[in-house]
Amino acid sequence: MKIPLVDLKAQYLAYKRELDDVIASTIEGTQFIGGKFHQEFAREFADYCGGGYVALCGNGTDALYLAIRAVLGQGDNTQEIITVSHTFIATAEAITMAGYRPVFVDIDPNTCLMDVSLIESKINQQTRGIVPVHIYGQMAPMDQVMAIAEKHDLKVIEDAAQAHGAFWGGKRPGQLSDAATFSFYPGKNLGAWGDGGAVFTRHSQLCEKITMLANHGRKTKYLHECEGVNSRLDGIQAGVLKVKLGHLDEWNEKRRQLASIYTQMLDQHKDIVLHKDLSNGGHVYHLFVIEVKKDRDRLVKELQDKNIGAGIHYPVPLHLQPAYAWLDVPEGALPVTEHKARQILSLPMFPEMTQNQVHTVADTLMACL
Ligand SMILES: *Cc1c(COP(=O)(O)O)cnc(C)c1O
Repeated sequence: MKIPLVDLKAQYLAYKRELDDVIASTIEGTQFIGGKFHQEFAREFADYCGGGYVALCGNGTDALYLAIRAVLGQGDNTQEIITVSHTFIATAEAITMAGYRPVFVDIDPNTCLMDVSLIESKINQQTRGIVPVHIYGQMAPMDQVMAIAEKHDLKVIEDAAQAHGAFWGGKRPGQLSDAATFSFYPGKNLGAWGDGGAVFTRHSQLCEKITMLANHGRKTKYLHECEGVNSRLDGIQAGVLKVKLGHLDEWNEKRRQLASIYTQMLDQHKDIVLHKDLSNGGHVYHLFVIEVKKDRDRLVKELQDKNIGAGIHYPVPLHLQPAYAWLDVPEGALPVTEHKARQILSLPMFPEMTQNQVHTVADTLMACL
């Protein structure tokens, strides 16, 4: 039996009829860019996020880039934005694309989220904003991030690419900050059948500005307020996302149940450290990531040889990537981040996974250890 890290085919088969219909209807109506599903999905996703406005765009990287550009303006490469090194490269790419220098803080070993107690040590005259990353599906402690931001007059844009539907203190991403950005890459908790992204904000004018920037700076068809980019969400993707949004809460609940089985089975093992859900049930387990005390690389290989799709998110922190050598952050500067990169292991996690499959993965892992 093969147990992949994620299984997108299983999700398609479970909702085949609805998904096929929405695609056929987009094609019939030739609504390939914009259109009915685009408008409906933007409205429904904004409601889902807790009420506000949604600007749809081409992918999660653009969502973050456009949000930073709209909230803070294009930077001149001397101003700084504080974020984490323990994330996908897109977080830092979006920051530099918008003309800001990424400044990395270390993470909390309990959650792998930004260690908020370290933020203030990185704030200086050049600091303009904070980009917390809700890694693995758990939100960073947003009340604490906002308190620091307000004290120092900084903007906050949340990278919620892995956290559709997550909560912190009863609030979803974007409810306290300037904006939250999402990716609809196929493997995310809410995934399209291609690329897609969105910015959620409580501010209607900010949403309008991002919508404009994502469509060549267009105010109306022939009037360009400024130069923007071409980052639009396809009509077909909007249709697929609209159908899938209706199932997101149920899928996230399924992920939580599977995570609790993993937790029960692996909790007492002497070579395993489990991460904590400090968000009081608000974690949506985009990934189920554990720390193993030894032999991580051997374990990944052995699990893969046994047809279990283990992964590593992420093996090389951004400050140690060749792409960010110019930031001059030396090895050893972010000890928790570097420790996690060596010891973490992602286990299969997708809503259609069965309890038996979780048992198989956990038993196999413990046998390998
Ligand atoms: C997936 C992801 C992104 C980028 O999203 P794309 O849609 O692939 O551009 C950004 N940040 C994080 C943390 C992600 O996981």
